[in-house]
Amino acid sequence: MKPAFALKVDVDTHVGLRDGAPRLLELFARHGVRASWFVAMGPDRTGRAVARAFRQPGFLAKMLRSRAPSLYPLSTMLRGTLLPSLPIVASQPERLREIDAAGHEVGVHGFDHVRWHDALAQLSIDEVRAQLSPATELFAAVIGRRPAGFAAPGWQCTGNSLRVVDDLGYRYRSDTRGTHPYRPSADGYLSSVPEIPTTLPTLDEVIGTAGRTPEELARAYHTWIIPEELNVHTIHTEVEGGPYLEQLDRLLSRVKDELPVRTLGEIAAELPDVTRLPVAGVRPGALPGRGGMVACQVAS
Ligand SMILES: [Zn+2]
Repeated sequence: MKPAFALKVDVDTHVGLRDGAPRLLELFARHGVRASWFVAMGPDRTGRAVARAFRQPGFLAKMLRSRAPSLYPLSTMLRGTLLPSLPIVASQPERLREIDAAGHEVGVHGFDHVRWHDALAQLSIDEVRAQLSPATELFAAVIGRRPAGFAAPGWQCTGNSLRVVDDLGYRYRSDTRGTHPYRPSADGYLSSVPEIPTTLPTLDEVIGTAGRTPEELARAYHTWIIPEELNVHTIHTEVEGGPYLEQLDRLLSRVKDELPVRTLGEIAAELPDVTRLPVAGVRPGALPGRGGMVACQVAS
């Protein structure tokens, strides 16, 4: 695996695509780097996720510890509860085309992010397909070609989701947290589409423990990057495209001269045939600083 740094941009909300994406586009243009964007194609029901987070043990303690500025504006926190859900892409398809036209890679981050995140393990294969078929069709209608990359909302991944993403013709996925690209297997199903996992922690997992200021956080990330390896960093339009833009700016200033910044699609195109990739299991696991379980790469 060639050493590289890859930016995986998750777009989870209407306001993230509307306000955060242009800020990140400007930042990436200034640094001359391209990123891989994964967009939730359906309704923004973030308010449900926020209500759920508040019910989770330890959530308030974490907020108080980090003293983080609110990562989401109030209108986003209420989407799907007090305020109506908004379609993230259908209400602003030109934004998706703008990201594509700027030379970035664009892929699919599910349809209803909240439903996938909260309930994937309980969804039948038909219910998973009912999420991903319309997301894939809408992408094709807006961009004019089928998507190549898929990234699971909230790093939730099951045998059913592996199978549906395979069936829909995606060429690679980024569903899990792990160390190296691999051929994923879950619930007795061995996928035929390679997985490129996120290798670095996300900002919300480390705020407060690794630093508070943009400079402290950028410095911490810089020490976690392994120069001889593939490093995949997941960021969010609502976070690094919002209050933490300066942190990412400083991090990119350090990284771009040390490692090639590449898209996940470019990395996927250079992987060996999937039958020659190492097989690894996908299992729910807990990560420091993150509530709930996420899909992790495990030796199988
Ligand atoms: Zn997401």
